[in-house]
Amino acid sequence: MPTFMIAGASLAGAKAAEMLRDEGFDGEIVLLGAETERPYERPPLSKGYLLGNDELDSVYVHSEDWYAGHDVDLRMGVTVTAIDPGASAVTVSGPGGPETILYDKLLLTTGASPRRLDFPGSDRPEVLYLRAVADSERLRAAFQPGTRVVVAGAGWIGLETTAAARSNDCQVTVLEPRPGALQDQLGPELGAVFADLHRAHGVEFRFGERAVEFRPGMVITSGGAHVPADVLVIGVGAAPNDALAAAAGLEVGNGVLTDSALRTSAENIFAAGDVANSFHPLLGRRVRVEHWANALNGGPAAARSMLGQPVQYDPVPYFYSDQYDLGMECAGLPSPGTYDQIAYRGDRDALEFIAFWLSRGTVVAGMNVNVWDVNDDIQSLIRSAREVDLSRLTNPDTPLSEV
Ligand SMILES: Cc1cc2nc3c(=O)[nH]c(=O)nc-3n(C[C@H](O)[C@H](O)[C@H](O)COP(=O)(O)OP(=O)(O)OC[C@H]3O[C@@H](n4cnc5c(N)ncnc54)[C@H](O)[C@@H]3O)c2cc1C
Repeated sequence: MPTFMIAGASLAGAKAAEMLRDEGFDGEIVLLGAETERPYERPPLSKGYLLGNDELDSVYVHSEDWYAGHDVDLRMGVTVTAIDPGASAVTVSGPGGPETILYDKLLLTTGASPRRLDFPGSDRPEVLYLRAVADSERLRAAFQPGTRVVVAGAGWIGLETTAAARSNDCQVTVLEPRPGALQDQLGPELGAVFADLHRAHGVEFRFGERAVEFRPGMVITSGGAHVPADVLVIGVGAAPNDALAAAAGLEVGNGVLTDSALRTSAENIFAAGDVANSFHPLLGRRVRVEHWANALNGGPAAARSMLGQPVQYDPVPYFYSDQYDLGMECAGLPSPGTYDQIAYRGDRDALEFIAFWLSRGTVVAGMNVNVWDVNDDIQSLIRSAREVDLSRLTNPDTPLSEV
């Protein structure tokens, strides 16, 4: 019986295991995870779970008995330490000590880890990161009314954490070396919408400044300011966990390189989720997408590829965020340089609108803010790559499906 092994037991890995069984694979499935929690979803860790609104039980991908029920050998607290593609074997370390396990096919879903900052005081216990359940619980405990919180990084994690801290009546200052919020993710125009939202909730931004030192009670910034701080939360992006693949001789570069069927450069080894830098047929280039939907759909796509089915993985990248009472969904990757125009439908000031990023008259990305049930239509517009009529695009009376 063939053994399909999955290294990394989170959303992408667990969903891959599910797809293998759904497609009738009756060989062995070994799902190896370094964490001691069974696979869970991370978005609630900076939202409902951090705020104390969601129970831990609601974040898991599957119920506890699902794994045994589907004959999936889930091994938690087990880290893959080496891959030997020639021998089709992995070495693991876990509670039972080191062990070598043979595979027929291997899927890498090792995800990403927060980028760490190194400066005087950065190893103090008041300096916190957010990736796993325990991190979220640490932040929740720290966010007491009146706590002085400094957040380093005005990206998604930084801003969602800021919203949670403000919702708990903490005093929050955000440090961001770039001139605005979400510059790489949305560009300056839409990044400003989020900065204004936070300012309206009493958040102070210090753009052009980074944290250079933490002392109990304060963060010292690159501009020389001493900002009062009981805790410093660092959210400066995540790096792919691709060292294992690199050491095994697989091609890596900002993640494990794959083709559009999620095959790596090594035979019988696949990669999906945050760790994969995959050729995207729609965009015509490689992208590494660190978003929930990419783990949700990429794991299953890789599973089908492992089964030898024809796979062309080309979803329009999709992301969502909730901050205070703003909910948004974003399709496409609207980073600076990818667009030459922005068009709006709805009321931007009232925070009820759709923003479209266009390049030479075609929609390359779209974000619906407090407007719902339109993201599929936005994705179809992006996918069509057709020039659009701006007056119809921006007219709320024209259904998006008819633009
Ligand atoms: C706090 C937070 C909030 C987020 N919110 C959103 C959101 O609102 N919307 C959105 O679209 N996306 C969001 N994301 C991103 C989304 O959660 C990720 O894209 C998703 O978790 C990626 O899943 P993954 O399975 O690829 O990797 P991961 O979730 O990173 O899981 C990889 C797993 O592999 C394990 N692992 C690593 N190396 C090894 C090894 N050598 N051996 C064994 N196991 C190993 C890791 O411990 C981990 O459990 C958020 C992320 C975080 C951290």
